[in-house]
Amino acid sequence: MSDEPIRDKDNGQADREAVDQGVRRLDVVVVTGDHPVFEGEADRVVAPAILGQISILPHHAAYLAVLEPGELVVRDGDQEESFAIGGGFIEVRDDIVIVLADSAERAHEIDIRRAHEARRRARTLVRRYRNQPESQAARQALRRSRARIKVAQRISRR
Ligand code: ATP
Repeated sequence: MSDEPIRDKDNGQADREAVDQGVRRLDVVVVTGDHPVFEGEADRVVAPAILGQISILPHHAAYLAVLEPGELVVRDGDQEESFAIGGGFIEVRDDIVIVLADSAERAHEIDIRRAHEARRRARTLVRRYRNQPESQAARQALRRSRARIKVAQRISRR
């Protein structure tokens, strides 16, 4: 009888079979400039791309997109993690999803009062600078505050 370990005989066969049976999963990393926010497996990522909401599933084609402020959802079966992000980038390649976010907060990290104040300030600035270049920054601030309010309200709805 050979002393060869069983693991060597398998030689990655189990992994290949899992892939063939379509049970591939996503490896997801969410980082901001100053800290890692999330790292784990998922079966779906929904992100606020600048051209509209995108849904990433395993086997997705290689993809790179700019994100705008909004809600990022990482789903794993019936578990769901939601983040308010302040825009950034998403890259997808070989079932690895990397989100590089300008800011990212989970619901419980959001100061909802601060977000409401930010929304009020941003609305005033959007009105004041209508059709002027400054309105762009104000519109982004408005999106960030709306995303925070939306994600924060998920806690109270549970
Ligand atoms: P504000 O005008 O209230 O500062 P902002 O949209 O200008 O809001 P950002 O520049 O997006 O703020 O974020 C700066 C930092 O503050 C980031 O680290 C972000 O995570 C954090 N932050 C901003 N708003 C909130 C909030 N309402 N609750 C918790 N953290 C927040």
